[in-house]
Amino acid sequence: MDLTLPKWYDLHTHFRQGANVGLYVADHLAMGCAGALAMPNTKPPVSRISGADTKTARSIEAYREELFEAGASAFDQLIIPLYLTRETTPAMIVAGAESGLLRACKYYPPHGTTNSEHGVPMDEWIGGEVFTAMEDHGIVLCIHGEQHGLIGSAYFDAHQTAESIFYAQTLPRILEAHPRLRIVCEHITTAAAASFVTGAPDRVGATITPQHLLYTVGHLIQGLKYHLYCLPIVKFESDRAALREAVMTPGQSKFFAGTDSAPHTTKATECGCAAGCYTGGCAPQLYAMAFEEAGADLGSDAGRESFTRFLCSNGPAFYGFEGSKETFMMKRETSHTKPHLTEDGPVVPLPYGMGLTLEWSIAAS
Ligand SMILES: [Zn+2]
Repeated sequence: MDLTLPKWYDLHTHFRQGANVGLYVADHLAMGCAGALAMPNTKPPVSRISGADTKTARSIEAYREELFEAGASAFDQLIIPLYLTRETTPAMIVAGAESGLLRACKYYPPHGTTNSEHGVPMDEWIGGEVFTAMEDHGIVLCIHGEQHGLIGSAYFDAHQTAESIFYAQTLPRILEAHPRLRIVCEHITTAAAASFVTGAPDRVGATITPQHLLYTVGHLIQGLKYHLYCLPIVKFESDRAALREAVMTPGQSKFFAGTDSAPHTTKATECGCAAGCYTGGCAPQLYAMAFEEAGADLGSDAGRESFTRFLCSNGPAFYGFEGSKETFMMKRETSHTKPHLTEDGPVVPLPYGMGLTLEWSIAAS
């Protein structure tokens, strides 16, 4: 079986910085990706709009140039959100919107994930002038939706997690205080988040990663497969079922692809593990496998329609740009991934790390 699809958009990914960026961008281009939203948690963070990089801040303009030079000029869309830090001002939002460089801002819970130490607690943003300026100028708020500062037992437990607490207690307050703010709930992992987004106004959408549609915490723990370690962490079977239902609902317009692909050259360390799964080169194949595991028949019109909505069209519609007119082809043929052996260490794709054979491949274009 062949699937010819419009080229798709990865509306949450990490290209990082430095010598290896070209490898990661090339992997995205090779998997039929027409555009990306590239996360700003570089070192230092992308926390200014324009101008040269400094010791403490990079600019969207300079980071975009670095990505362009590494091959990203081949994308028809490249969105770089502004990392919300203590230096962010309403005037920056206005200037960024007027220059066209700023289309989204990213909220990180302080110390919630990789390079998130510059984040400012959400309570300090709600009702404030930065969010108001974003509302006034149609700038999207991308949210890493986990309550910050919880002790371990509250962070992850059978009946509540940092994510479910965030969606129960914090997100409703943002919606109420900022009635026009457009919000992407990024990499949602729980039934609580899926249900919140489904019931929220149309200005709220969500991205879901391949790993959260494919795996549960049981897969991570069985054999301690640390290549599956990402944040927010994979959850329970009931959560995975809710995410699958959300993406498969006919005609749904709120859920779209955002891989959160995150290359790490040192995944496991002596006393910890870097958060993030690398799915460059293999994300559509993984998404297709997840849809099929969830019962979709990708050979049928209905199956293809729900897969295409999720992968190719809902994201552009939410961000307000046209989907791609170009196509790429997937074949129902097994394929394998292999690590990038970089000078800094190996970058291991998630399927390789999990010993997973892909049931799909991408036809060379
Ligand atoms: Zn991310």
